[in-house]
Parts: sequence; C-alpha cells; structure tokens
Amino acid sequence: MKGIYFDHAATTPTRPEVVEAMLPYYREKWGNPSSLHSSGREALEGMDTARQQVANLLGAYPEEIVFTGSGTEADNQALIGTAIAQQQKGDHIITSAIEHHAVLHTAQFLEKHGMKVTYLPVDSYGLVDPEDLRKAITDTTILVSIMHANNEIGTIQPIAEIASICREREVLFHTDAVQTVGHVPIDVREMNIDFLSLSAHKLYGPKGVGALFVRKGVRIAPLIHGGGHERGRRSSTENVPGIVGLGEACRLAELEIEAEMAHCSKLRDQLIKGVLAKVPDSLLTGHPEQRLPNNASFCARYIEGESMLLNLDFENIFASSGSACTSGSLEASHVLLAIGLAHDVAHGSLRLSVGRGNTIEEVDKFLEVFPPIVERLRAMSPISAGRPASDFEGGEDVHEHGHESEVV
Ligand code: PLP
Repeated sequence: MKGIYFDHAATTPTRPEVVEAMLPYYREKWGNPSSLHSSGREALEGMDTARQQVANLLGAYPEEIVFTGSGTEADNQALIGTAIAQQQKGDHIITSAIEHHAVLHTAQFLEKHGMKVTYLPVDSYGLVDPEDLRKAITDTTILVSIMHANNEIGTIQPIAEIASICREREVLFHTDAVQTVGHVPIDVREMNIDFLSLSAHKLYGPKGVGALFVRKGVRIAPLIHGGGHERGRRSSTENVPGIVGLGEACRLAELEIEAEMAHCSKLRDQLIKGVLAKVPDSLLTGHPEQRLPNNASFCARYIEGESMLLNLDFENIFASSGSACTSGSLEASHVLLAIGLAHDVAHGSLRLSVGRGNTIEEVDKFLEVFPPIVERLRAMSPISAGRPASDFEGGEDVHEHGHESEVV
C-alpha cells in the first residue's frame, strides 16, 4: 500500500512471514484435519502448532483455545454461549457502555430474548470504575464482559482488578482483547480471565480468523452445531491456513512485543504532542497514560471527522474517525458520547493508530500536512464562523478532568 497508513486499529497488514507460513497449507498440506490419513494429519499438525502458539502468547493451555471465524464471533460465542450454559444459575450480564458493537449488539440481542443487562458507565477518560462493577453484581449475575482496550480512544481498563472482583463473587469474566493481543502483554492466569476474544487481522495475521480462550473447566454452549470440531465448542471444518497464519502472528508478536510497544508509543507520543500543540481547539480522547501504545485519538472542534479523513486521504494518509465500523454513518460514536463529549465535538473525531512499519518521518509529514487541512476546513465551515479559537473552554463538553491539554 502506498501512502501513510495510520489505521492499524481497523486492520493491520498481513506480515510476509505469516503469508509464507500459510502458503503450504494452500499448496501442499490442504488436507482436512479431521481425516485419519496422513494428509489430514499434516493439516492437524499445523493447527496443533498454531494452538500452542496462541496459547503461549496468552499464558494459556492449548486445549483452552477455540478457533473462530473472527473476533466478532468470539465475542458472540462468549456472551451467548455463557447465557445458554449458565441459564440455571441466572439471567444477568454486566458490560460497559463503550464496548465494541460485537459485544454491545450481542448483549442487546440477549436482552430481547429475556436476559437482563447492566451497561456500566465510564468516566471522561473511558475508564470503568471497579466499585461500580462490585455494586452491580447480584446473585443472578452470570457474566461480566469488559473490553481490555477500547478500539476508538485506546483506554486500557484495569482488567486484573475487575476480574478479581468477578472471581471473588464467583461470576465468569470475559474480555474483548481484540485491540490488545499481540500489542500489550497478557497473562490469562495472572489476570483471572475466564474468556478472552482475539482477532488475527489486528495483529498482522489474516482476516476471517479469531479465537476464544475458554478457561479449563468453564462450561460454554456452542453457537455452531455440527460435527463436534474444536472439542464440540465450534463445529465446521477448520480454516487451516488462516489458523496457521494466526499462530505465526502470535509467535512473532511474543518475540517482538516489547520492541513494538517501544516503537509505537514513541510515534504515538509524538503525534499527540504535535497535534495538541499545532491544532487549536483540539483535545486528546482517552486516558493520557493508560492507553494503547499505538493509539492517538483526538477531537477537533468546529470540524467534521469525515472531511478531515477525505482531505488526509487526498494526501495519501489513512486514518479513521471513530471506529471503522461506524464511520460512514452520521451518528456520533457511542464511545465519545459515553465519555461525556457533546455531539458536535464527537463529530470532529480523528483516530490515528500506528504500527510496526510506521516511521518518525511519517509522523513529521502528518504534522506538517494536518494543521493546514484543519485551518482550511474551519475557514469553510459554517459552524466555526465568528467563533474565537479560545472558545473551547467552558463549554458543556469540556472534560471534568480537563485533560484536553494533557500530553502523554
Ligand atoms: N472487538 C474490538 C474491540 C474490535 O476492535 C473489533 C474490530 O474492529 C472486533 C471486536 C471485531 O473483530 P473482527 O473484525 O475480527 O470481527
């Protein structure tokens, strides 16, 4: 891809090593892993290696990894599969207001079918208060699902603390870790996690493959019924090349996670510092420190996110406004509204998410190109007419902690 790609939260390029690892499973080792002959066995061996590689990255056992068709499917599996498996115990699920739609819409689906769901609020940084969770748990609560890091604003939740409250109260805990697996260290045992969703294409693996970690001994009902694959937890002939690609992506991530975190956070910090200094009436969204190493997200007032994106695209710079799944719709992001931003401010959101291939020169180029784009758009915008640049302060949408000028 030509240009500057700052949209790694939407998807990442498939690493050449990953493609190389996958190719034999298209060309020679294309057997069905359920077949008993040697052609099936070599496909099964590829899958076994991948299962071990995914497990290693998470601190899990290989038999605790269930391969799925995506991160979305893993989230659906965790919520619906638990609602069915635990129906004798209760009918209450707790989640947060800022989850990805893969969790939120699944929770809403379950509500339509008789479950009760509590949506915990977040503060202006996007953090769930563990005390709110403690108060929300009742005798009928069967599952808590709180994402590890938010895909729009990058805030990382205090997952270990949240999970230990769940463990104390004997409630199962699921985390959507689609944005963190391979990018920040995770240990499912240390963190007391019962279910964890991940997606290959967010960590330099192929699209259309994910996994759900299911802690040993925890019951979950399958969503997809058939030949009993994945120990009866997800039927259908497995996507062997995709699974092998996911395994290789996890192996590489485990080796390189520290270096990638250092590289990305340097670029992220430079972007945050540069945008806040060079673009008047801009604010950082998400937590200044507890955030993904690759996420720099902002709102710029008196401007539409879509027009920023189109102008950046014209310069061959690729970014997002809110999440990729909601861009294209005129509704303000539920995440930005949940952290207390007013609709008009939320409409001016920009998410830059860097990756291992980005350079400091690309950041410099962005910081050269972006401020004049904002200036030009504001000059043309009816909503900015006659408003002084300092008008940002004192509005209903100013964050209670005033971190709009914070630099990470
Ligand atoms: N959860 C989060 C936090 C995400 O960011 C995404 C993708 O954007 C998903 C779930 C869905 O993953 P997939 O694209 O593999 O279905």
